[in-house]
Amino acid sequence: MSADATISQSPIKVEAIVIGLGPAGATAVRLLSEAGVQVAGFDRSSFPRSKTCGGGVSARSAPFLPKGWDLLPHEVTTGVSLSYLDYDPVEVEMDRPIAYQFHREEFDLFLVEKAKAAGAQVFTDRTMANLLWNGASFRLTTSRSEVFESPVLIGADGATSQVYRFLGNSGKEQSKRIRKKRSVQHGYPSSEKILKCERPSRRSDVLIDLGSVPGGYGWSFPKSGTGNNVGVVGFAKPLENPLGTLKVFIEKLLGNSLPSEDGQKSSTWLIPDYQESTVHGIIPGLFFIGDAGGMVDPFLGEGIYYAMLSAKKSVSEILMHRWNPGKASQSYAEWAVRDIFRDFSQARRLATIIYRFPGIYFRLVQKYPHILSMYAMILCGSHDYRSFSRTIGKNLFNLPFRKFFPRFQSNRLV
Ligand SMILES: Cc1cc2nc3c(=O)[nH]c(=O)nc-3n(C[C@H](O)[C@H](O)[C@H](O)COP(=O)(O)OP(=O)(O)OC[C@H]3O[C@@H](n4cnc5c(N)ncnc54)[C@H](O)[C@@H]3O)c2cc1C
Repeated sequence: MSADATISQSPIKVEAIVIGLGPAGATAVRLLSEAGVQVAGFDRSSFPRSKTCGGGVSARSAPFLPKGWDLLPHEVTTGVSLSYLDYDPVEVEMDRPIAYQFHREEFDLFLVEKAKAAGAQVFTDRTMANLLWNGASFRLTTSRSEVFESPVLIGADGATSQVYRFLGNSGKEQSKRIRKKRSVQHGYPSSEKILKCERPSRRSDVLIDLGSVPGGYGWSFPKSGTGNNVGVVGFAKPLENPLGTLKVFIEKLLGNSLPSEDGQKSSTWLIPDYQESTVHGIIPGLFFIGDAGGMVDPFLGEGIYYAMLSAKKSVSEILMHRWNPGKASQSYAEWAVRDIFRDFSQARRLATIIYRFPGIYFRLVQKYPHILSMYAMILCGSHDYRSFSRTIGKNLFNLPFRKFFPRFQSNRLV
């Protein structure tokens, strides 16, 4: 598509354009449409489409889900099992849901269907042919030559956002700042697959393993019908070979019962690093939500909750400042830094310490299992990373270090 063809076609004017219809984009489209905003949502895939993800949706996400979500096939997680090497796992049971285990294909299709049902214009199977900002509005040309124009643009196109790339080339001063800030896509490579697996032993638990992934953790989430979603991520040390690390983790998980060939494919994708997402508030009327905005916590790797939370926040700001998109995007950017990234920086600090020294953390949790309950309570929304860190800090000093580190003890005695 040439630039001339883009300009010659008269655009369809809407009040908001959303690019990407994962949990972030589909939620934003639905909420805008429910509020009476004329919105057009686009995705390069047609739904259902696969998405590399563990599919664990924390209990605190439930208020953001449209009616009928509980009818989707899912398992309810009420406990956590933390394992480390050959030690007995530490298990906590919360006696209430802490997460829901979905299949992402079904979950994402459901969210897109709900956005359509709310009356939004939804266009799938389209890529961006061009995206320009003229100082007052955004003009999108799709791969099918449709042209849309709007003063509000929501970038919800995931960890490798193309919206950055297009707007970075727009030629305006702000666009150059985007290009400078996000010249390299940075994130944590992560890998997962579906596997028949007996661990965790209770289907209402999630298994988090600290011993098999250097600088990170491995997980096993029971799924309804198909087996478990097992995966690996390195937060203190990005994985160089995520597929290889996944293979090692699976070998440790299954031990002797390792199937020679199970037919399920492993997939790899990036979990974005929020620190690289300093693009919020640069262009008036532009919002980056979900993975495109770096909204994934760097301790658990939880992104679905933040995708929907950031969608809701961006929509609230758009509705509150309906005639001033610049003010809306500025206010959204301030929220992201103040309410989200501050907690993420605490999460990142924890990740650096815990995943570098998993043995110490495991022993701490063995002695004080309520630390694992707090971890579960983060997923319920009743604790944040600041209170979690304080509890770890307080209990760490009570650890009988001498018992755990006899050499340290003897040095001190000499
Ligand atoms: C291995 C792995 C495991 C994970 N496990 C969990 C978990 O258990 N729980 C959890 O909460 N989070 C998990 N996450 C994170 C979670 O998957 C993401 O945070 C979440 O999907 C973000 O939603 P989103 O809508 O921002 O982006 P996405 O879900 O990535 O959706 C982006 C959408 O944009 C579309 N798109 C992309 N480019 C374009 C384009 N140029 N034009 C149009 N459309 C485009 C894509 O087709 C896609 O539909 C995991 C991530 C990985 C990699």
